[in-house]
Amino acid sequence: MTERQDVVLGAGLTGLSAAFAFQQGGEDHWQVYEQAERVGGHARSIVRDGYTFDYGPHILFAADAETEDLIRDLLAGNFRAQERQAFIYHHAYDLYTRFPFQAHLHGLPRQLVADCLIDLVAATEGRARGAFAPANYDEWMRGFFGNAIAEHLMIPYARKVWTVEPSEMDFNWIDRRVPTPDFARVIAGALGDDVEQVGATADFWYPLEGGIEALPRALGERVHGIHLNRSLERIDLPERMLHFSDGSAVAFDHAVYTLPLHKIADLVPSAPREVVDACTALRYQGILCVNIAVDTPSLSDLHWVYFYEDDFPFHRLSFPANFSPANVPSGKSSLSIEVAYSPDRPVDVDGLVERTLDALRTARILHDDHVVEFVDTAPILPAYVIYDLHHTRNVALIREWLGESGITAVGRFGEWQYLNMDHSMRSGREAARDILSRRVVGGRRA
Ligand SMILES: Cc1cc2nc3c(=O)[nH]c(=O)nc-3n(C[C@H](O)[C@H](O)[C@H](O)COP(=O)(O)OP(=O)(O)OC[C@H]3O[C@@H](n4cnc5c(N)ncnc54)[C@H](O)[C@@H]3O)c2cc1C
Repeated sequence: MTERQDVVLGAGLTGLSAAFAFQQGGEDHWQVYEQAERVGGHARSIVRDGYTFDYGPHILFAADAETEDLIRDLLAGNFRAQERQAFIYHHAYDLYTRFPFQAHLHGLPRQLVADCLIDLVAATEGRARGAFAPANYDEWMRGFFGNAIAEHLMIPYARKVWTVEPSEMDFNWIDRRVPTPDFARVIAGALGDDVEQVGATADFWYPLEGGIEALPRALGERVHGIHLNRSLERIDLPERMLHFSDGSAVAFDHAVYTLPLHKIADLVPSAPREVVDACTALRYQGILCVNIAVDTPSLSDLHWVYFYEDDFPFHRLSFPANFSPANVPSGKSSLSIEVAYSPDRPVDVDGLVERTLDALRTARILHDDHVVEFVDTAPILPAYVIYDLHHTRNVALIREWLGESGITAVGRFGEWQYLNMDHSMRSGREAARDILSRRVVGGRRA
């Protein structure tokens, strides 16, 4: 009889953290299967000609003390803490203001600042009266910040990054994602520049060497039983067999699943109709990264800039050299640009690079005398899950059904949530500990 294995599917930060927690909990036999040739998933980096680009710029936080201790231990001094230098470009006024918009209105045209404050007062009064019962993200932005802030920046930006109308989205994901400065702080930021930063990303860490991939690589070095280049093709639930694209098969007992949740419809032929329908209904967007190497020292001293106006094909531009100087060869610069797309709004790839370079010249980030060494594009799909109005129900339905089948779906795409790296690490760790604790209580198998 084939011996059954306990398996972790996927060696991104969630899968690696789960496997590491099993090891620490005394269970060394868990096997990790990963389709790529190296660990790290979405937290990997691309290196070309001495330039390092992450798969979408990544900055590091620690959601809890245990994750922070692990990150410190893994990076062993290979990181530095930095204060965020993030700005918003307003092409209509040819100026930059600090991120987040709502906390730094100073410098914008007087009438726009006045409109934002007047509408903020109305929204704040409405909330105080209890007249705040938003049904979707559009209503949440209007009800929390007022129409002017919502319409001038937040809604156009949301459309750009999420690729769908904010009225089609829930708002139960905004914690730690959308800074919500109080009224006094908005006023202070409208009156002057000399105000403290707000929001969870005000300070962050980034590896000194190796790009963001330094983190999963260090964790991967501590985890046993990782099988690379093994792409899961089918889960035969009745037989409890995993089939891989190289023709190999593994009999499994329990599985920790960190692959995208919607893939369950394709991976599990025996999934019931309602699970398949829920998978098909999950929405997500992708990011096309446009990575540009420039033979010029120090293009900017900022970390990243948001672009909310339609004149620009991208919503965010980052300067990797300011995350770490090791991300570029000495005396050179680079730009990491993110273009959001989805089935609702496919990216028009033809001429995208030219449109991007033109837009960078319009914003005076690139000048005619700058020599572009190369431009690469790298798609990330899925990149962000979309919190449509059926998200909570569909995700719960799929994950509960998987749980009953001995498959624990965790991580950014297994839970189908807006998880950062620290959240993903915690998610994998907690899933493993939960499985271990149920085994102890229940005798053997959870
Ligand atoms: C554009 C972008 C920017 C981000 N910025 C930040 C940031 O600034 N800060 C932050 O903290 N977080 C950021 N994140 C989030 C962060 O990348 C994730 O939270 C984290 O990497 C998720 O890890 P995971 O292991 O859950 O998923 P993944 O990294 O997706 O890991 C899943 C693994 O499963 C593997 N896999 C998939 N299909 C198969 C298959 N069929 N067979 C076998 N293996 C398979 C994949 O190759 C992958 O290695 C960002 C994400 C994106 C997309």
